[in-house]
Amino acid sequence: MSKTFDIVLERLTSGSGLPLDTGVGMQNASAELHAGLLGASRGTFFLETFGCQMNDHDSEKVAGVLLSRGYRQVESPESASLILYNTCSIREKAAQKVFSRLGEFGLHQNDGRIIGVLGCVAQQEGEEIFKRAPWVSLVCGSASYSKLPELLAQVEAGNQRVTGLDNDTDETFETPVTRRDNPWRAYLTIIEGCDKACSYCVVPYTRGPERSRASDSILREVRQLAELGYSEVQLLGQTVNSYKDPTARQMRFSDLLLAVADAPGIRRVRFTTSHPRDFTQDIVDAIDAQPKLCNHVHLPVQSGSTRVLQAMQRTYSREEYLEKIAMIRGAKRSISITTDIIVGFPGEAEEDLEETLSLLDAVRYDGVFAFKYSPRPHTPSLKMRDTIPEEEKSRRLAVLQEKQREIQTVKHSSLVGETFELLVGGKSRRENQWSGHTSCHRVINFASQEQALLGKYVQVSVTGGTPTGLVGEQTL
Ligand code: SAM
Ligand code: SF4
Repeated sequence: MSKTFDIVLERLTSGSGLPLDTGVGMQNASAELHAGLLGASRGTFFLETFGCQMNDHDSEKVAGVLLSRGYRQVESPESASLILYNTCSIREKAAQKVFSRLGEFGLHQNDGRIIGVLGCVAQQEGEEIFKRAPWVSLVCGSASYSKLPELLAQVEAGNQRVTGLDNDTDETFETPVTRRDNPWRAYLTIIEGCDKACSYCVVPYTRGPERSRASDSILREVRQLAELGYSEVQLLGQTVNSYKDPTARQMRFSDLLLAVADAPGIRRVRFTTSHPRDFTQDIVDAIDAQPKLCNHVHLPVQSGSTRVLQAMQRTYSREEYLEKIAMIRGAKRSISITTDIIVGFPGEAEEDLEETLSLLDAVRYDGVFAFKYSPRPHTPSLKMRDTIPEEEKSRRLAVLQEKQREIQTVKHSSLVGETFELLVGGKSRRENQWSGHTSCHRVINFASQEQALLGKYVQVSVTGGTPTGLVGEQTL
């Protein structure tokens, strides 16, 4: 399916303040799309997103579909005729959030508003959601977003119980329109679902089996994004480096990275999340060969103990993981490494935690996302005994975070005096204060007398660091 009109639409509707682009691809838009654009207004929608970057990007697709149907986006649920929650179920707290949001609407059940639950909780709970919150009329998992126009038509026609819950379709990449939130950096999902079977993780259940998007379709969209002024693309997937090109071209993931970087106008290419088992030398070689590939790898380890890794079914040992780290450290340019860690997995002993702490010393990560283990439905670890009390999980999390804080304090102070190229993405309310990302994915807040810096690349020299961030000033 051609997506040439997607980005024109997002420029028309994003309110980004950029000039309207009436050129590229508009002639390809369907009559239905025009009808939507030309204001056959159906009402207003409010869309709240929970969870990861893949969910953020899914919401961009959902917003695109709604805007093309003539809906207008509003900032609060109170002023919306259609209220949608794009949900996350990776940890229990995240899943609970949506039920507390839904509870807020129980009081207004008959006021005519349509309420929908999208994403992982929708997929996980399915029609149960109608029982828990009878005022919900749409339940739709991420693989069914391309069907949203039909599902919405059913809801608009008065159907009170509409579901889209297939989760093994490869139509998942192709929603008719996408409305991106950020005018300079574009997310692009290249692989959906997950075929790994980590014992704690609900993703294979909620997002279904692995499906990779055709390389020619990815590259076509990247070229269109570049033509519209996007200079950074971030390729997304739960295990992005497990990408398998379904076309006869059979591009390797590393070849795809290089091809994306070759698109004229693209200055930076990121990818997340990489699975250690599929992280291979050719990816490091590609980063070495092409400076546009960002020097950052997010490589979740989950635990430093081989015993726990086995119980987690992570498919690698501590030693094998450290070999991958050595491979990355062996690159010609310095590549920053971040990770995810779970503490308090069933059966994790004090010695296992010690091993995770010693892994932090061995790798010296640039950033760590640490989580307390949360038992999830439909996962093998739900049946494991030896559960660890909540207070003990909190203690372990605090110990781990303190250790990483010390490592970052040293790392950040060693960066003072260094100069980085930043893509400026934020402007502070404070006069002359901006923020941006380095290629290695560090955020630097910096001072500059210049005005219109958003979306520009600037050189910034680091003048100070805290455990959590860096400050600097623009160099001329
Ligand atoms: N696919 C990625 C990988 O394999 O590393 C991770 C995707 S998951 C959305 C993001 C992180 O959530 C995981 O790396 C893990 O640390 C954490 N996570 C997943 N399931 C969890 C659970 N049941 N309890 C706590 N944290 C969990
Ligand atoms: Fe979940 Fe493991 Fe798949 Fe990551 S690799 S999404 S943690 S099952």
